[in-house]
Amino acid sequence: MGQIRIMPEALANQIAAGEVVERPASVVKELVENAIDAGSQMIQVELKEAGIQAIRVTDDGLGMSEEDLQMAFQPHATSKIYDVHDLFNIHTLGFRGEALASIGSVAKVTLTSKRSADETSHYIVVEGSTITDQGKAAARPGTSILVESLFYNTPARLKHLKSLRTELRHSIQFVQNIALGYPHIRFILKNDGETIFQTAGRGDLRQAIANVYQPAIARDLLAIQGEDNDFRIEGFISPATLTRTSKQYIHLMINHRPVRHYGLNETLIRAYGRQLMTGRYPIAVIDINLDARLLDVNVHPTKQTVRLSKEEELADLIKQAVIDALEVSNPVPSVEVED
Ligand code: ADP
Ligand code: MG
Repeated sequence: MGQIRIMPEALANQIAAGEVVERPASVVKELVENAIDAGSQMIQVELKEAGIQAIRVTDDGLGMSEEDLQMAFQPHATSKIYDVHDLFNIHTLGFRGEALASIGSVAKVTLTSKRSADETSHYIVVEGSTITDQGKAAARPGTSILVESLFYNTPARLKHLKSLRTELRHSIQFVQNIALGYPHIRFILKNDGETIFQTAGRGDLRQAIANVYQPAIARDLLAIQGEDNDFRIEGFISPATLTRTSKQYIHLMINHRPVRHYGLNETLIRAYGRQLMTGRYPIAVIDINLDARLLDVNVHPTKQTVRLSKEEELADLIKQAVIDALEVSNPVPSVEVED
């Protein structure tokens, strides 16, 4: 008899969870991305003890049907892509259908949801990939997901968590970063009942930057923009006089998705030329809009790394936009000629 067997679903889910659910901030990321994909205008994240005790994400998005509540926790269950063509034309933050299955395998999850046309809302409780309760509830349209006892059945992960401060910092960083990509969504982040970050959600990027950094910094930033046949970029960069010692103040978004892209970061920095002192880096929030078919986000489960077609063309566009913006702020002195 052969030795190979297909593993039980709960085990497969836990293995998948190993890739995407590293810490409370990873749960926050997946749940907030789902809320954004559901078209929410307001997303509230409430943590208890930095999310180690509990994480609740509440949105005012589309909501889910009773049927979908159960489906959502199945591995590879998604409403976002249906065939392989969709995979190369992604317009949502999620598409892998893994997050809820993964989170449900390493925590106790209570999901309550209502579509605006439904009479009541429904809830479902999933613990270690098993549905332990479900029923009707009274709630407003939208979705609320409560995640408790994270990593209760994966002690090694639990042990790896850092101090409450560090875990909280990861969640704050994630919410701030994504808020810069979606200035028209109102984000609220609370820990132990205290509001630690929020945005107005009025669609004003400079305002969102003011919420993340200080208003004085947001005020001094320079608008940048650029466009060609394939790309449209817009956002803000700091003048060469306003710099930081770390590159972490550079926020690049591709179609609103915060991404890490070493090459484009370097392009941006180099565009300042000699205006930047060694070891100093600009503050920047730049959204790059492109045809989703030029982008491959299916590189890593967390989707922060992407592959781009026509990267050189984009780099040139960014470089020129930065040069233009800096020139407007600091024009080359011209000699006045009288006529
Ligand atoms: P993915 O986001 O990759 O589709 P998830 O496991 O994160 O996979 O979610 C599974 C499905 O559950 C989503 O495709 C969506 O249909 C539904 N869903 C999850 N969260 C929400 C939400 N906040 N509002 C509405 N639907 C949601
Ligand atoms: Mg998702």
